[in-house]
Order: sequence, then C-alpha cells, then structure tokens
Amino acid sequence: MRRKWYQERLRNDLDRSLELAVTDPLTGLRNRRYVRRHLDGVLRGSDAAVMLLDVDRFKSINDTYGHAAGDTALKEVAERLKSHLRAADVLARYGGEEFMVVLAGAPTDYAAMVADRLRGALSNDPISVGPALLPITVSIGLAIAPAGCSVSGAIAAADAALYRAKAAGRNRVEPAVPEDFIAPPPDQATEG
Ligand code: GH3
Ligand code: MG
Ligand code: MG
Repeated sequence: MRRKWYQERLRNDLDRSLELAVTDPLTGLRNRRYVRRHLDGVLRGSDAAVMLLDVDRFKSINDTYGHAAGDTALKEVAERLKSHLRAADVLARYGGEEFMVVLAGAPTDYAAMVADRLRGALSNDPISVGPALLPITVSIGLAIAPAGCSVSGAIAAADAALYRAKAAGRNRVEPAVPEDFIAPPPDQATEG
C-alpha cells in the first residue's frame, strides 16, 4: 500500500514538473520553449500560420498605472486571446508582452480572419484594472509558413511583419511577404 502510494506521488510530481516546464507562470499559457517545439513538429508535416502579437505602447501602461497593474492587464490579454481560439490552436506567451499563436495547416484566409478576430478581441473593449479602464491594443505579424520551413525562418517572417504593423500605426495585422522568410544570419539565429 505504502509503496503504491509513494509511486503515485512520484508520478504526480513528475507530471507537475513537466507541466511547469512548458507553462508561463504569469498567464498560465504555454511558454516560448513549448511553442517553438510545437511549431517545429507542425512544420515537419504541414503548413502553419504563425502569429506574433505585441501589446501596443505597453511601457506607458506600466509607467502610468504601475507594474502590478501591467501584470493584471497581461493576464486579461491572455484570457481574451485564449477565449477567441479553439482548443487545438496553440497560444503561448513568447516574451514580456509578446504572444504567439500557431494554427496548424490553416489556409491563409482563415488565418487572416483569426488574426483580425484576436486584434478586435482587445480593441473592441477596454480592460479594467482596479478602477481604471485601459484601452489596450495589439499589433500582429502573420506568416503562413510552408511545410519544411525552419522555425527560425517562420518566426523571423512573423517578426518582420509585426515590425511593419507597428510602423504602420499599431492595432493592425500585417502579413509576411516572401522576402520576410529569409532566415537571419547564423550569429543572430536563436534556435532552441
Ligand atoms: P510598442 O507599441 O512599440 O510595442 O511599445 P511598447 O511600450 O509595448 O514596447 P517596449 O518594448 O518599449 O516596452 C515593452 C514593455 O513591456 C516594457 C516592459 O517593462 C513591459 N513588460 C514586459 N514584460 C512584462 C511583465 O511581465 N509585466 C509587466 N507589468 N510589464 C512587462
Ligand atoms: Mg515587445
Ligand atoms: Mg509592445
């Protein structure tokens, strides 16, 4: 009895450690490590839509309302995005105020529609943090990566498109163009 109980506890501890290794502690979303592995797996067999989402002017939210309010806002951003995706879509916190969505095998039109739905999920309603109502928007770079594309190439393309979305005024979705898929030189690549 005691041995069985002990083995079960080891098993549960292991499950929990594995779960923690792929989870972002603030939002509960998948983390960067997980989404890169996932994307690698998807691209071995099919196309993937890769979205990089970055919260607009987030620094000013921290500066105005404080870091704790910023954290609360980030959690709500995560919830909003999650509630507008299907269970099979992977949503991750990619870095500070950056998120990534991977849609396996999604046609271009569908992916563009989802990206705009996510953008609207934030811009349509302000986020309440304590007594304040914060108008929060995201800019999104969308890359449709063909099967066999490298993870770093796909992400670099989404990032290049995101950069244009910011430059074009924020709160918008920009698609990646073929030139965006050219992989960064090896010394800049961040595989892993
Ligand atoms: P842009 O529209 O160009 O993206 O402007 P920005 O202010 O969002 O960009 P910038 O990269 O200058 O600032 C990002 C800010 O996000 C700065 C950083 O303090 C904040 N941030 C990153 N991670 C967290 C976090 O976990 N919690 C909080 N509260 N803030 C965070
Ligand atoms: Mg950023
Ligand atoms: Mg930002």
